Amino acid sequence: HRHVSPNFITEIIDEDLRQGRYKKIVTRFPPEPNGYLHIGHAKSICLNFGIALDYGGECNLRFDDTNPETENEEYVEAIKRDVEWLGFKWAKECYASDYFEKLYECAVELIKAGKAYVDSLSEEEMRAYRGTVDTPGRPSPYRDRSVEENLELFERMRRGEFPNGAHVLRAKIDLASPNMKLRDPVLYRIVHAPHYRTGDRWCIYPMYDFAHPLSDFIEGVTHSLCTLEFENNRAIYDWLVENLKGKCGLPQSPRPHQYEFARLNMDYTVLSKRKLIRLVEGGYVQGWDDPRMPTISGLRRRGVTPEAIRDFANRIGVAKANSRVDIRIFEAAIRDDLNHRAPRVLAVLRPLKVVITNYPEDQEEWLEAPYWPHDVPKEGTRKLPFSRELFIERDDFMEDPPKGFRRLTPGGRVRLRHAYVIRCDEVVKNARGEVVELRCTYDPDTLGKNPADGPVKGTIHWVSARHAIRAEMRLYDRLFTVPNPEEGGEDFTRHINPDSLVVVEGYVEPSVRHDPPDTRYQFERLGYFWQDPADSSPERLVFNRIVTLRDARTK
Ligand code: ATP
Ligand code: MG
Ligand code: MG
Repeated sequence: HRHVSPNFITEIIDEDLRQGRYKKIVTRFPPEPNGYLHIGHAKSICLNFGIALDYGGECNLRFDDTNPETENEEYVEAIKRDVEWLGFKWAKECYASDYFEKLYECAVELIKAGKAYVDSLSEEEMRAYRGTVDTPGRPSPYRDRSVEENLELFERMRRGEFPNGAHVLRAKIDLASPNMKLRDPVLYRIVHAPHYRTGDRWCIYPMYDFAHPLSDFIEGVTHSLCTLEFENNRAIYDWLVENLKGKCGLPQSPRPHQYEFARLNMDYTVLSKRKLIRLVEGGYVQGWDDPRMPTISGLRRRGVTPEAIRDFANRIGVAKANSRVDIRIFEAAIRDDLNHRAPRVLAVLRPLKVVITNYPEDQEEWLEAPYWPHDVPKEGTRKLPFSRELFIERDDFMEDPPKGFRRLTPGGRVRLRHAYVIRCDEVVKNARGEVVELRCTYDPDTLGKNPADGPVKGTIHWVSARHAIRAEMRLYDRLFTVPNPEEGGEDFTRHINPDSLVVVEGYVEPSVRHDPPDTRYQFERLGYFWQDPADSSPERLVFNRIVTLRDARTK
C-alpha cells in the first residue's frame, strides 16, 4: 500500500521519474531545533518520509540550526524521539551547522562573481531602501563595493571584528523585482552568540534563504517540500542553485526543486512553536508534553497512537491552498484507531454508592464479561466481580428524571452491564439533602436474560466497591474555547479553556491490574483512557482520557 495518497506533489514526482530527471527521490524533513514538534510537523513528516518509502528513495532528518540564540540539544533529542515514535527512519541525520564552512565558501564564490556584497546599512535603513510593492527599491550606497573590499569585509565579519548588526552580506539580485524577496536578500548576519554545536567557532550565521537551498543541494535532495509561506522564497532558492551549480563541489545536476504545500492549521489549538513556547513558559500547561498540547510528545502522553496520527495526515491530504482543519477530523481518526485496539472495561468517574440489599454481605461472584463489542472482530473475556456494594455513575441516577431518561430513578429499574437488573427501592440523603446512597434489590434471574415481565430500557456501567481500584482520572478537553484563538490578532492566551483539565477520583474494575501498563481501554460509555506514562504507578493509578466516545457538541 502507499503511505501517501496521490496529490499534486506525487504527480510532479511521477512526471519527473517519467522524464528521467532523477534516478532516486530524496526528501528531507528540516526542523529548526527551537522547540518541540507539533501535529503540523507530523503532516510534513508523513509527507516527506512517506514519499521516500513509496518511491524507494531516502528522507533525511536535517536540523536547520542556523539561529544560535534559540536552538539547543534538548530540542534535537526531542525531535529525534518524536520522528522515531511516529514510525519513520531517516537515511541520514544532518545538520545545517555541519555545512557552515561549505556555505561560507559558497558565499565567497558569489562575492567573487560580483553577485553578493557587504552592506553596512542599519536594518531600518535597509527596509526603507528596499521600497514597497508599488515602488522599486533604491540601491544601498554600499552596493557597488569592489569584490576585493567585499571579500575583505566578509572575512573580517567572520573573524569577529564587528558587532552585531554592523554589516550583512546580501545577494545582488534585483531591486525592482515585484517579488520583494528578490530585492537583494540578506544571506549572512553577525550574531555573537555561542551555537549549541559549533560553539564559538562562528559569529556570522547564514540566513534560512541561503542555508536551506544549499543544504538541500549538498545532500542531493531532489524534492524540497515546504509550506506555502515560502512560495516567494522559491525565486531565491532557484537563483542560488543556478548560480552555484557546478561550483564549490556542488554538482551540475541533478538540482533540487522547492514545492510548497498548505500548512496544517487546526481548530481549537495553535500550531507554532513560538506560541507553544508561550503556553509552556507562561505556565498555562505543565510542559511540552502536557496531554492538552498539540505537540507530538503531548499527544503521545495523552495516549494517541502513531497510527492514528499517520491516518489523520492521510485523511487531510496535501493541497495547495491553506485552510483550517476541523479538529473533529483528528478526533475521529483517534477514535477509529482506538475502537479496534482498546478492550472495553468498566470504570466509574463520579461514584454513587449502591447497596444491593438482597445480596448477602459475605458473598461475591465473578462474572464472565467479553472485552469486545460484536462489531470488533476480536475475542477475549475477563472476570468481573459482583458483590453487595457497588458504585454507579452519579449521572446515571436522577430523582426527578426528565421524560425519556432511561437510567435509574426511584422505583425504577436498570440493567447493570454484563450483570443483573436492579431496582431502586430507597434513596438515602445526607443532612444537606444530597443523595449519598441508593438501596436497591437485584433480580437473580436476569443474568444474560430479560426479567420475566420484559426487557428494561437502560444499561449502565458500574464497579464492585470492594474490588474496584481507586484511580485519578484526568479528563482533558480542548485547550481553547474558540475555534480560532488568534482571530482578530487577539492574544490567544485569553481564550484558554479553564476546564481543559478536570481531575476526578474514580474507580476502575480490578482486571486492569493484569494488563500491560500501556494498555489503552474504552471505559464503557465514558471514553478512551490509558494510564499516564509519567505519573501512574501500581500504587497509584492515574488515567488520562484520550478522547471521548463521540462529540457531544454540535460544533
Ligand atoms: P513553527 O512556526 O511551528 O516554528 P516552523 O515552520 O518554523 O514552524 P520548522 O521547524 O522550521 O518549524 O519546520 C520544519 C518543517 O515542518 C518545515 O518544512 C515546515 O514547513 C514544516 N511545518 C511546520 N509547521 C507546519 C504545519 N503547521 N503544517 C505543515 N508543515 C509544517
Ligand atoms: Mg522554519
Ligand atoms: Mg520557526
